Amino acid sequence: MAETLYHFVGGTRETGNGGRFGEVFNPALGQVTGRLPYASKAETEAAIATAAEAFPSWAATPPLVRARVLFRLKALIVDRFEDLVRLVVGEHGKVLSDARGEVTRAMEMVEFACGIPHLLKGEFSENVGRGIDCWSMRQPLGVCAGISPFNFPAMVPLWMWPIAIACGNTFVLKPSEKDPSCALHMAELAKEAGLPDGVLNVVNGDKEVVDTLLTDPRIQAISFVGSTPVAHYVYATGCAHGKRVQALAGAKNHMVVMPDADMDQTTEALMGAAYGSAGERCMAIPVAVTVGDAAGKLLDKLVPRVQSLKVGPGLDPDSEMGPLITREHRDKVRGYVELGIEEGAELTVDGRELRLQGYEDGFFLGGCLFDHVTPDMRIYKEEIFGPVLSVVRAPTFADALALTNSHEFGNGAAIFTRDGDVAREFSSQVEAGMVGINVSIPVPLAFHNFGGRKNSLFGDHHIHGPDGVHFYTQCKTVTARWPAADLRAGSTFAMPTMS
Ligand code: NAD
Repeated sequence: MAETLYHFVGGTRETGNGGRFGEVFNPALGQVTGRLPYASKAETEAAIATAAEAFPSWAATPPLVRARVLFRLKALIVDRFEDLVRLVVGEHGKVLSDARGEVTRAMEMVEFACGIPHLLKGEFSENVGRGIDCWSMRQPLGVCAGISPFNFPAMVPLWMWPIAIACGNTFVLKPSEKDPSCALHMAELAKEAGLPDGVLNVVNGDKEVVDTLLTDPRIQAISFVGSTPVAHYVYATGCAHGKRVQALAGAKNHMVVMPDADMDQTTEALMGAAYGSAGERCMAIPVAVTVGDAAGKLLDKLVPRVQSLKVGPGLDPDSEMGPLITREHRDKVRGYVELGIEEGAELTVDGRELRLQGYEDGFFLGGCLFDHVTPDMRIYKEEIFGPVLSVVRAPTFADALALTNSHEFGNGAAIFTRDGDVAREFSSQVEAGMVGINVSIPVPLAFHNFGGRKNSLFGDHHIHGPDGVHFYTQCKTVTARWPAADLRAGSTFAMPTMS
């Protein structure tokens, strides 16, 4: 029986006004588990109105008091940790250990936001002129909105709203329609933690909700994470409507493998980065660029490891990789494998024939490995977002760096080497927002900024970390003088110089 899901607005569950619905699947079984109401424009506007009404009182709540709500939320996440993990596995399909890592990362966003009294401290200059002081402070924006992708249903929404509300904003979240339950559960936990009704609202749906958020004058800022075409649309439309927008987009992260790299370490790191979460991570590594004779040494170890990759349902603790998110996406990824063969790449490991007893209807695909991929191939150029790793051979380090930098995406990049000089040159010159040195998935922690370059990020701010606090606040600088007998002066018509 499919569960009827809901929106969460003003602290209450709403099952929709009988309009459109979508189906939520368990991807391991290929079965429908949820019936999700899609909000109309009017329903979305009602949620925005609720958030707008909650804003003045929440903005006036001292940061310390706001932080205490987040402290309680953190404790509740610890308490309900396994429930959240199972919601992620059930609707996304990723394996248990990976879902535990994701929920931990989500919790760390709340921990970061607990520090908001410190993070909001302004700057003060005494005596900028005689008897004049000047200070700057950061104030909330108003109602902010977040639109999140399917691949991190617990973590990505929490990149956004804990920091936004800690800063004194109210929030409307539209999670992915493919796996919304974790976001809904988190919002209910926030209420349980003492968050006043209306401060955080979750509205489900698709483009109709997104377009309403992008154009409604009450929304001040939009955080988006998803694919590049939608990110570009969200950025252009939101900006055209006068909003502050950060839109994190697609990726095709390269790992440069130098001949001197520790190949055992490199192989294991590459396995996790290419096939973890079935390659459905914006920080996955779908391209390994081998330099010089590194290819042979790497492939000797990598091929048997991909062949023995344990694919299975996420709830099986032995599974290393679960299913893809939907049947359509699995078929699209399989289509890329067929395309790669047509384009002349060498399919060294073919995961297309994988069948799992008892899970015949699940959206599974085995790990696939291409060798001799070249930069003109579509399997190199496009984001596949599945368990397909391409090996591209480069003669020199300079060629590998140039190749990495010429790709349209620049989210993450990694280098595996024992040579500090090469690693330093790579981290300095590579056109990517996040760089790993012998670290294949260099995802910054909550207290650092997260974001890419080129077609992987539209906007001036990275997400979470100090940039997150800046994104969700606006600066005000006050210059003050108190009347003092010796400083009283008549009118002055010149630009004040404060001397
Ligand atoms: P998506 O772009 O299909 O969807 C993202 C969100 O946008 C969802 O909430 C969806 O409902 C909404 N949406 C989809 N189409 C829309 C449209 N035409 N108009 C308005 N809204 C629309 O992305 P996805 O498939 O859910 O997620 C995978 C993508 O997200 C990949 O490209 C991945 O690289 C990217 N991603 C990037 C980062 C990052 O930090 N750069 C992180 C996670 C995922």
